[in-house]
Amino acid sequence: MSANLFDILEHAITDPDATAIETPDGARLGYGDLVARTGQMANALQGFGVKPGDRVAVQVEKSLAAVILYLATVRAGAVFLPLNTGYTAAEMAYFIGDAEPALCVCDPGALAAISPLAEAAGARVATLDANGNGSLSDAATAAPTSFATCPRKPDDLAALLYTSGTTGRSKGAMLSHDNLVSNALALREAWHYTPRDVLIHALPIFHTHGLFVATNITLFSGAAMILLPKFDVGQILRVMPRATVLMGVPTFYTRLLQDDRLTAQATAHMRLFVSGSAPLLAETHRDWQARTGHAILERYGMTETNMNTSNPYDGARVAGTVGLPLPGTEVIVTDPETGAALPQGEIGMIEVRGANVFKGYWRMPEKTAAELRSTGFFITGDLGRIDENGYVHIVGRGKDLIITGGYNVYPKEVEAEIDEIPGVLESAVIGIAHKDFGEAVTAIVVLTAAPALTEAAIISAIEGRLARFKLPKRVIFVAELPRNTMGKVQKNLLRDQFAGLYQ
Ligand code: ATP
Ligand code: MG
Repeated sequence: MSANLFDILEHAITDPDATAIETPDGARLGYGDLVARTGQMANALQGFGVKPGDRVAVQVEKSLAAVILYLATVRAGAVFLPLNTGYTAAEMAYFIGDAEPALCVCDPGALAAISPLAEAAGARVATLDANGNGSLSDAATAAPTSFATCPRKPDDLAALLYTSGTTGRSKGAMLSHDNLVSNALALREAWHYTPRDVLIHALPIFHTHGLFVATNITLFSGAAMILLPKFDVGQILRVMPRATVLMGVPTFYTRLLQDDRLTAQATAHMRLFVSGSAPLLAETHRDWQARTGHAILERYGMTETNMNTSNPYDGARVAGTVGLPLPGTEVIVTDPETGAALPQGEIGMIEVRGANVFKGYWRMPEKTAAELRSTGFFITGDLGRIDENGYVHIVGRGKDLIITGGYNVYPKEVEAEIDEIPGVLESAVIGIAHKDFGEAVTAIVVLTAAPALTEAAIISAIEGRLARFKLPKRVIFVAELPRNTMGKVQKNLLRDQFAGLYQ
C-alpha cells in the first residue's frame, strides 16, 4: 500500500456494502460502489490526458459525482483543485492561469466562459452538472471500474486549495497526501467517529471544511454521509432524526436557532455538532445548549494547515475558545515582531507545526519563506493566547489588529462587550484611518428587531468595562455584516466602505 490517500482509504474499508454517501433524491452509494465509481472516473481522467502530478481544476455544483471526482483525482495521482462556484470568469482566469491545470471541469453552462481560459493555459475541458451529468461522467460511465491506484509518497501533493481570500488575494496552498490523511485520522480519533455515524453534509466542497474535514473523516471511518446540495434549515431538520453529526459554520447554528422546530427532541438522535471556519459567538453556544442540550464543539483550522485545535469530545467545551491542540499538532504563541515565544497567557501570533501543515504556497516562494519557518512552524496570521488550561483563544487576525494612539486593540475584545448589550445582534470592530490616532476604533453594529439603540447608548453601555482607548470613536449601524460563503465577516469590505469616516 502506498501513501496515496485513496489507497489508505480503500484499505480501511471493512464493509463494502455499508453506505458511504446518500443524497436526498434517494441515491445510495456503498463503499464497494465508491471504489468502483472512482475507478471509472480515474480512467476517464486519464482519457482526458491527466497524468500524475497534474492539477485538475474543478468548478462544479456539489454532487455525488463531484465527490467521486475528488477521490478519483487523488487516486490517479493528480492534484485536486476545487474552486468556489461563486467565482466569476475574471476570477477563474486568475486561478486557471496561476495553477496551470491539465484539465478544467466546469458546469456545462460555464463552458463558453471557461474554454478560452483553459485553452490559454493549455488545459482540456470537461463538464459536470449539478445532477452529475456531462462529458466527464459520460466518459466515466463508459470506462472500466478497475483502476490501479497511482502509488504516491507521503509528501506528494494531493490537493491545491486556494484560501478564502478574506484578507487579500487567495493563495494556493499545496497539501500532501500525508497532510490530509494525518489530519483525518487525528480528527476521527478526537471526535470518536465510528462506522455507525451518519453525517449531515451541508457544507460546500470547494473548501477545507466540507471537502477534507467532513468528507475525509467520514470516509476514513467507514461512516455514512447525507450529501445535501446546500444548507437548508428544513432539509437539515428533516434528516436529523437519522443522523448523528452535523458540521457547520456559525451561520448554520444561528439560522437553525431562528427556527422553532429546533428542539431537544429534534436533536435527540444527534451526538455531535461541530463549528468552525469563523468564530462562534459565545451567545450562540449558550443558546444552542439551552435549546438542545448539546454543547457545540468548536475547532480551529485553515486551508494551509487543515485542523489545528479542537474542543475536547469528553471534557469541557468552552464557549469562545477553539480548544486544545490536536494530537500531533503543536501550537505556540509568539511575539509578532521578533518571533520569540511568549510567556503562557500572553496574546501574540499563533504558530502551528505538525504533519497537518502544508508544503508551501503554490508558486509563491517568498511568501512561503516568510510564513513557513525552517523549524516547521507556520505563522498563521491569527492572534491569540493559550489559557492556563491549555485552551486556545483567538482574538482576531493580525491584519485586523487596530493600533490607535500607539495602543493595540484586539477587535474581538470590543466586539464581545458590544454583543452582550441587549438589542445588539452582532458587531464588527475595525480600525479606520484617523489623523490624530493613526487608526480609530470603529464599531459596525447590527441590531435585533428590539427598540433601536443609539450610538451614545452603545458607547455608554461599555464605558466602564473597557479602557478608554478601546472604546469606539464611532458606532455605525448596518442591516447586516458582509460575509463570504464560509460565513466569514469581510472586514476589508467594511474598512473600504467606511475609509473616509474621519476625514
Ligand atoms: P485568506 O487567507 O485568503 O485571507 P482565510 O484565512 O479566511 O482567507 P481560510 O483558510 O478559509 O481562509 O480560513 C482560515 C481562517 O479562518 C483562520 O486563519 C481563522 O482566522 C479563521 N477561523 C477558522 N476557524 C475559526 C474559529 N473556530 N474561530 C475563529 N476563526 C476561525
Ligand atoms: Mg488565511
